[in-house]
Amino acid sequence: MKLEDCKVDGSKKFKLSDHPTSAKVPKAERPAYEAETAQNNKRMSDLQERLYADGREGVVILLQAMDAAGKDSTIAHVMSGVNPQGVGVTSFKVPSKVEAGHDYFWRANVALPQRGYIEIFNRSYYEDVLVVRVDGLWHGYDMPKRCLDMDEQEFFDMRFEQIRNYEKALYQNGYRLIKIMLNVSRKEQKERFLARIDEPAKNWKFSAGDLGPRSKWPQYMAAFEDAIGKTSTPESPWYVIPADQKWYARALVSELVVKVLEEINPQFPEISDEDRAVMMKCREQLMAE
Ligand code: ADP
Repeated sequence: MKLEDCKVDGSKKFKLSDHPTSAKVPKAERPAYEAETAQNNKRMSDLQERLYADGREGVVILLQAMDAAGKDSTIAHVMSGVNPQGVGVTSFKVPSKVEAGHDYFWRANVALPQRGYIEIFNRSYYEDVLVVRVDGLWHGYDMPKRCLDMDEQEFFDMRFEQIRNYEKALYQNGYRLIKIMLNVSRKEQKERFLARIDEPAKNWKFSAGDLGPRSKWPQYMAAFEDAIGKTSTPESPWYVIPADQKWYARALVSELVVKVLEEINPQFPEISDEDRAVMMKCREQLMAE
């Protein structure tokens, strides 16, 4: 399977079931994939330094997934490839009172990186078309009638349009979005939940509440399918990454991040003749010591 097979750019109708949760790579190939990830991380480190020095483009790596799909470990891996000074992580939890008092892009805006930086969104405003849809939370919003007086499809189609416009505006203002869905199977999620229950060192990762979304799996998959299908564009494509084999998913994600950074092609700033002359003077001074 290639990274391109995971890409969804809106050029054809999107069906989640066309995207496997596992590439079924033989286990024996795991070391080769891990070596590839390490290689990609090295490349990422070099590119990030350039991105920072160049300072013209901001990068958002946005992760959405069902629980236990591997968001946290993916983030840890991406982070291990970059200089912590240029990267941040923002986790989007149940909105606080202040957050809920604003429009749903507000907290994402606050979290946007400066140009030259990378910000990882652990969940995002896409929760506002996923959990908010599946749990019907939008019915309880404190908003005027004109914002809510419509049926579900109309309401979320309106949000998809808002998201497309938002992401387009970001792109036009010097941002790149890398949108990733870690596509885990219901069967694999069960195995990972059981491991969280059975292994003491993993107990802290388990919450009984996680079984709620699991019990609404088909509704979540339908919400993901609609959201991904309607917010994929050539500038802001989605990548649906098979996540049942974590090491395989990490290799693809690292390849993707490198690919996008290479597309940005950040350059070290050119030094002006004047600045070079000053530098040469400093050099002479140092050599004379
Ligand atoms: P994670 O599972 O990402 O490690 P948590 O267990 O704290 O972190 O989960 C965050 C929870 O916040 C998720 O259940 C998610 O659906 C919920 N959430 C995030 N954004 C929103 C939102 N806009 N409205 C309602 N719930 C949200």
